[in-house]
Amino acid sequence: MVKDLSITIKPEDEKNTSLINYLICQEIKKAGIQFCKQELISVFQKKSIDARHGHIKLHLKYKVYIGEKPQESENTIPEWKTADPDKRVIVVGSGPAGLLAALKLLEDGIKPVVIERGKKTPERRVDIAQISTKGIVNDDSNYCYGEGGAGTFSDGKLYTRSNKRGNIGSILNTFVYFGADKKILTDAHPHIGTDKLPKVINNIRNKIIEMGGEVHFDTRVVDFVIEESCENKGSKIVKGVVTKNTQTGQEETFIGNAVILATGHSSSCIYKLISKISPSSLESKSFAVGVRVEHPREMIDSIQYHGNTENMPAAEYRVVTQIDGRGVYSFCMCPGGFVVPSASEDDGIVVNGMSTAARNSKWSNAAIVVEIRTEDIPQIFTDKAKEAGCEALAGLYFRTDIEQKAKQHGNGQAAPAQMMEDFLADKKSEELPKTSYTPGVVSSNLKEWLPEIISSKLHKGFIEINKNMKGFVCSQAVLIAPETRTSTPVRILRDKESFECINLKNLYPAGEGSGYAGGIVSSAMDGIKAAEMIKQKLFNL
Ligand SMILES: Cc1cc2nc3c(=O)[nH]c(=O)nc-3n(C[C@H](O)[C@H](O)[C@H](O)COP(=O)(O)OP(=O)(O)OC[C@H]3O[C@@H](n4cnc5c(N)ncnc54)[C@H](O)[C@@H]3O)c2cc1C
Repeated sequence: MVKDLSITIKPEDEKNTSLINYLICQEIKKAGIQFCKQELISVFQKKSIDARHGHIKLHLKYKVYIGEKPQESENTIPEWKTADPDKRVIVVGSGPAGLLAALKLLEDGIKPVVIERGKKTPERRVDIAQISTKGIVNDDSNYCYGEGGAGTFSDGKLYTRSNKRGNIGSILNTFVYFGADKKILTDAHPHIGTDKLPKVINNIRNKIIEMGGEVHFDTRVVDFVIEESCENKGSKIVKGVVTKNTQTGQEETFIGNAVILATGHSSSCIYKLISKISPSSLESKSFAVGVRVEHPREMIDSIQYHGNTENMPAAEYRVVTQIDGRGVYSFCMCPGGFVVPSASEDDGIVVNGMSTAARNSKWSNAAIVVEIRTEDIPQIFTDKAKEAGCEALAGLYFRTDIEQKAKQHGNGQAAPAQMMEDFLADKKSEELPKTSYTPGVVSSNLKEWLPEIISSKLHKGFIEINKNMKGFVCSQAVLIAPETRTSTPVRILRDKESFECINLKNLYPAGEGSGYAGGIVSSAMDGIKAAEMIKQKLFNL
């Protein structure tokens, strides 16, 4: 017999195996199950921290086998087969969606040809360092672009609210197989950490190459190879991609049975390219814009753990409120983390957050963002998009404008910043504390240049958040702006069932850039699903 059960203990008892075994036995007795102790094998499943009501508790979940042997994990690692060169799928982008799609194709020996505009992680690190030291962003190699995509230099948080579309367990197992800590399989809120992610990503790349796939770095897709369909007049079929080498400028064409487009939500050039070829394949969608809020870590720990911070990991928080009919909420909270410069073009500033596996920096940060619906986008950007021939791009123009304004109020990649209390008092901060944001910060009254629809809701939002999280508004909280890339403002329309782009046959938009996924795990799941659809449709697998 197998029984799933939970026990609750104090944090200091986490390693007290006799107490844990005793509590497990008590739970089994309570359930009226007859057993003798020697017959029990308990397999730890998940841990979560409950810091509500002023007392910290750990909830531990176990699967207990009574008189039975534990089964093999349901999430075993698949076997990858040597690629058949006659079955080729072009995968644009080496983020979580692209890499996991490539591995999925290899399960049936379909050859993935991964095209990535950015560099391999060691070289990408150099470009990332230069953002802080020189204030320069390389348009092809930065926090968003390069091996592993936007997820490589991130917190590597691996939780998703989207549980429907795939097997999260198998994705976590894949990450463990390629070098992530096994803890991610049992933590309720797993994260890999920016120090560990590059190794995992490099191992995935090596596996793809070992199995006969290709990975091309420094190779930017600049166009699609398109044929008009003979059967269906006016319909376009994507046969491959045209690329430009970012180092040599040399053009090259890659042809395949299908193209998975996993270029992430930063790739404005891809949206603009599609808007020229097939404007009706794009639609605008809601997105969110705001600021990164940074507090001293000790302060957040103390608020969340009610002062009992001893032996506790850096505390997380998640806040959400409604202001004037729009959501104002926290996003990508990084306990013990850093605010990072994640612009993908040199003419703008964008901030985001990351942390190491240990989550032990002096600060904790989170984005606090305001939901922007299509109807909230100022008319000037809708007009600009119409002029360019595709109204769906309005949000993209709005986003770019905010990022460029931030650059005007910053200095190089030093970002505009303000103490939260000064923001609420509508005055520029006379002094700013040291922050985790390495390019530096420049004092700026954010309300003077952040669109009013955002700043007014942030203002009210902070006050609301502070009602439930006392101490959130405080003299030490700093706002660093702007956080514009929580999700894409554009969706590439695809068929619900087949995942194929509605007007561009053989093109499979996947991951965050498609507008149907967000975050590492959900983008990975989306990439896997696109690969599965291609296998079914083109190779009858
Ligand atoms: C600093 C930071 C921290 C984050 N932290 C987390 C976190 O902790 N947890 C979480 O779930 N999510 C996090 N995210 C978001 C997460 O990284 C993304 O949701 C995820 O990476 C999206 O995966 P993707 O594969 O769809 O796209 P991406 O990861 O964006 O990958 C797209 C790839 O396509 C390439 N590309 C773009 N255009 C072209 C082109 N024209 N030609 C060739 N290649 C191209 C890019 O270089 C890039 O490598 C973070 C993001 C950032 C920037």
